Amino acid sequence: MITEVFTANQLKKEAPVFGQLSFDDHEQVVFCQDKDTGLKAIIGVHNTILGPALGGTRMYDYATEWDALNDVLRLSRGMTYKAAITGLNLGGGKAVIIGNPKKIKTPELMKRFGKFVHTLGGAYYTAEDVGMETSDMDTVREVTPYVTGISETKGGAGNPSPVTAYGVYMGMKAATKFTYGTDKLEGKRILIQGIGHVGEELVRLTSEEGANVVISDINQERLEEVKHKYGADIYKGNDIYTETADIYAPCALGATINNDTIDKLNVKIIAGAANNQLENENIHGSLLQKKGIVYAPDFLINAGGIINVYAEIEGYGRDQIMAKTQNIYDTTLDILNKAKATNITTNAAAISIAEDRITARKNEK
Ligand code: NAD
Repeated sequence: MITEVFTANQLKKEAPVFGQLSFDDHEQVVFCQDKDTGLKAIIGVHNTILGPALGGTRMYDYATEWDALNDVLRLSRGMTYKAAITGLNLGGGKAVIIGNPKKIKTPELMKRFGKFVHTLGGAYYTAEDVGMETSDMDTVREVTPYVTGISETKGGAGNPSPVTAYGVYMGMKAATKFTYGTDKLEGKRILIQGIGHVGEELVRLTSEEGANVVISDINQERLEEVKHKYGADIYKGNDIYTETADIYAPCALGATINNDTIDKLNVKIIAGAANNQLENENIHGSLLQKKGIVYAPDFLINAGGIINVYAEIEGYGRDQIMAKTQNIYDTTLDILNKAKATNITTNAAAISIAEDRITARKNEK
């Protein structure tokens, strides 16, 4: 369970450190600092029972250091469940670097960060996340082998976004099968919010299947480009959350399922790539269930990216990556059926399956 989130001003000094913020039985939280390069980073290793903790490094100009800590705690926990539900032998971890990447990111800073990753001796593998480029992972690779998502020319698995989009497409089709009895997307009205690396590929896959795709983005140029390429309709209204559709696919930001949007939603299914779509997984998961909206858990259906980087560690080829990603269809269907049978939210059903896998492995040891 995510514990209550405190801001710096609300910190309860009398409470133990491990009871603060989003601590959730994290194994290790490492604070890294280097004055010469300006590096301030936090590495969160949530759980390593299934394998080394893998998760990207996010570089962001956090308003406070507490926000950075909170983010790394929540994100690393999410990675544990993502890996477990996907059947990967990986644990959950994440790192944050505090600061604006455009202003303070240098190769020296990235190397220093890489050296800190190296000190963990493989308990944590890093990868790309917000504010990072493949070239940054190449720089980290110069000082440690515990990094994935490096350039293809240097032995990496390449761009994960098409794989992520394929997994989201599989999850969407499974949710469609569960809701309508058939997984055909032909004629289904699908709202795709955010047509970046993942969203555009999802537009391609769904349009090719004959879906009636409506796209929204804050980038007007991209809207025109994607409309032109795939014949999708551009959303012209003022509030996308009020639009009637079969499927809403959040592929831009997290937390779009919240107190403001939930009453307005007029869709049958939510299935998209964005991380942490439910602002509060307990409250908003239950509200979706009450409204009868089928929610395909984000951390399950957007796992194509992690499958892609896992391939680098395991030495998988493209066929194995795509086969594992295709499995997201069956897992999603199982989870939706389990949630229905036990009358719990789909998010809770996914977490409980992931926890069962971790517990079973722990008991084997
Ligand atoms: P991206 O940055 O390429 O694309 C995001 C798009 O969303 C951009 O086109 C941006 O203009 C648009 N956008 C931003 N704010 C918006 C708003 N308010 N309304 C509509 N559009 C808005 O990112 P991406 O790599 O395509 O990832 C999309 C989402 O999926 C992110 O939440 C990311 O964390 C998640 N995700 C991505 C991957 C991956 O492999 N890339 C893997 C797992 C999860």
